[in-house]
Amino acid sequence: MAKTQALDTSSISRLDQTRISQYFGCNTFSERTMRERLQKDVHKAYRQALKRGEALSPEVAKSVALAMKEWALERGCTHFTHWFLPMTGATAEKHDAFITWDEPGQVVERFSGGQLIQGEPDASSFPSGGLRATFEARGYTAWDPASPAFIMEGPLGKTLCIPTAFVGYHGEALDHKVPLLRSMEALSRRSVEALRHFGVNAEAVVAQCGPEQEYFAVDLELAQQRPDLMFANRTLQGAKPPKGQELEDHYFGSIKERVLGFMQAVELECFKLGIPAKTRHNEVAPNQFEIAPIYEAANLASDHNQLLMELLKSVGERHGLAILLHEKPFAGVNGSGKHVNWSLATDEGQNLLEPGKTPEENLQFLYFLSATLKAIHTHGGLLRAAIASAGNDHRLGANEAPPAIMSAFLGAQLSHILEAIEKGDAADASIQRILDLGIGNLPRIEKDATDRNRTSPFAFTGNKFEFRAVGSSQPIALPLTVINAAVAEALEGLNARLEAEIEAGKEPKAAIMVVVRQAIIETKAIRFEGNGYSDAWKVEAERRGLPHAKDTVAALRIWKDPASKAVFSRSGILSEGELESRLHIRHEQYQKAIAIETQVLREMAETQILPSITADLGARAGSLGKLAAAGITVPETLKAALQDQATLAGEAQGLLSAMKAALATAEAIEDNHARTEAFGNQVNQAKHALREALDRLEEACDADRWPLPKYWQLLSPLL
Ligand code: ADP
Ligand code: MG
Repeated sequence: MAKTQALDTSSISRLDQTRISQYFGCNTFSERTMRERLQKDVHKAYRQALKRGEALSPEVAKSVALAMKEWALERGCTHFTHWFLPMTGATAEKHDAFITWDEPGQVVERFSGGQLIQGEPDASSFPSGGLRATFEARGYTAWDPASPAFIMEGPLGKTLCIPTAFVGYHGEALDHKVPLLRSMEALSRRSVEALRHFGVNAEAVVAQCGPEQEYFAVDLELAQQRPDLMFANRTLQGAKPPKGQELEDHYFGSIKERVLGFMQAVELECFKLGIPAKTRHNEVAPNQFEIAPIYEAANLASDHNQLLMELLKSVGERHGLAILLHEKPFAGVNGSGKHVNWSLATDEGQNLLEPGKTPEENLQFLYFLSATLKAIHTHGGLLRAAIASAGNDHRLGANEAPPAIMSAFLGAQLSHILEAIEKGDAADASIQRILDLGIGNLPRIEKDATDRNRTSPFAFTGNKFEFRAVGSSQPIALPLTVINAAVAEALEGLNARLEAEIEAGKEPKAAIMVVVRQAIIETKAIRFEGNGYSDAWKVEAERRGLPHAKDTVAALRIWKDPASKAVFSRSGILSEGELESRLHIRHEQYQKAIAIETQVLREMAETQILPSITADLGARAGSLGKLAAAGITVPETLKAALQDQATLAGEAQGLLSAMKAALATAEAIEDNHARTEAFGNQVNQAKHALREALDRLEEACDADRWPLPKYWQLLSPLL
């Protein structure tokens, strides 16, 4: 029996107790465990089904279920659950105990193949965007055999979690996983077709992803005193800290002990669950941090990121920290994103976005690079829409985060090569290396040379693309689905052109260059090496005809576009109905997020802030009265200051009423899109106006009477 099995993993409470490699994935029913525990032929059948993307036969499922149950019971699991990713973006689970009646009064542990493969959660509480009528509320969950089952440790027991896809009775995708798997399938198919022209006989090509997760950590006791942090995950009010208080040396500075302890506890959990957590560091803003894993197949990376977000929150609480995954927890302070690193690799592990060592490999690299550019060029608007949310609206286009205009950064070296190809400049040294297929290589693309421009939303970073506009709280499944779908479509187009060129008698390598050159010329508009934060770029992007959806309201329109529908439907990733339902849910989530914020801000203003201001004014007026009574002249400026504060409080009261009215008006609107517009415009503006008044009231209020922890307290070093 392997060491992973012999270890009592529940006793590992420290990172340094044993080597990570000895317990990594010990809480997962991993490939290795299956190999050890399944009969040879069952394991083979399982592997084969996995490779072909087929369902498990009932016999295989039965054997796997039995082995999984024994493994889970040995480890102390009492319950199992089908773990899935409904379209709310949070994960969902309903736990069932392994027990059942054997004979009257006698309980036994049981878990069948059927229960492994398929579950029937009461799906009515999950949004389906109209896909599923309430009278047939039931959907079912089906195990994704590519994602290993894992054990979640609770305070008094353990639960076996089985990652599943969530579908309706007619096979409709009710979650984020199904479309992601379908998009990976489509991308694999088109990539395999393309590779044949390069003499590579791959069986499959896998989209790979490494998501860098940013977050804020705030003292839990302080956070609990703020309803906005508790219910909206961000501050809805808060006077900005004085300039110069930002701790510039925080980034890559030493990590404070309390935070380090928390990070190590998270990593320990990650390692047990087979999440390859790799790097930890401080981020730019005070109390902002990042954790990044080693990249994996996109569907695994997506499951793991979802688990990681949950771990961050739950482990944080144990360490007295509130972990804020929101894109913009504090006004005036840098927001949080999630850099989604994306690449493609063959089943043999060859990265198709890695510049090669031979001319043939370089041509292949240029082909897949062009396909990706083509995808961003054709579907920039859709990529933007995939990451549109109420939270991300605060970040995109601000002077700290990628702009809402989708462009691609390639770095000076690659840009030069692409320009030379475009000109057909055979005399250019770098293009000669590619065209003159007898000699030389592409210059090695220096990673540093490509990674400098942090202002680009979609940057090539040496051997992968980095989609930087994703929000920190968003599930990565949807943006990954859109990238995969768009690149699959682009490859389909390029492959067809290539075949036509070859059919017309062109020599294969020359034909590839023709197709690559054409794609480079067609996609020129999205290549941008300059400062993506600048106003000049906005003007330039408009001149180039690039779409610019400033906010969610504008971005969501693109889903209705025929080209958007086509990119999903042509390869069966999302049917029109499935797409429609997702659009519906995005509207709903956007409206809900703003409605909650509005209600929480109302509550804070009406029951905490304004009463405190009145009390403060009363007390201060009382003090002035006492001064006067003692024969001390009360300076007019003191009286005026109180008057100003009273006037401002009156204004705030008026703005509060206006905000309530705007909310009521928006909620009464029937049409979904019009309602989203009202929330995005009138309600948001009303909220913002009230916030500004409250922030000014905070600046002049007696600190002891101010009812909420202030920004400087929330952002002080966590000691
Ligand atoms: P950065 O300079 O952006 O921090 P890193 O090399 O540290 O770059 O990688 C950041 C993230 O990118 C990590 O999660 C890493 O696993 C992921 N990554 C690295 N190579 C690839 C790849 N080929 N495909 C997808 N993700 C990758
Ligand atoms: Mg990065």
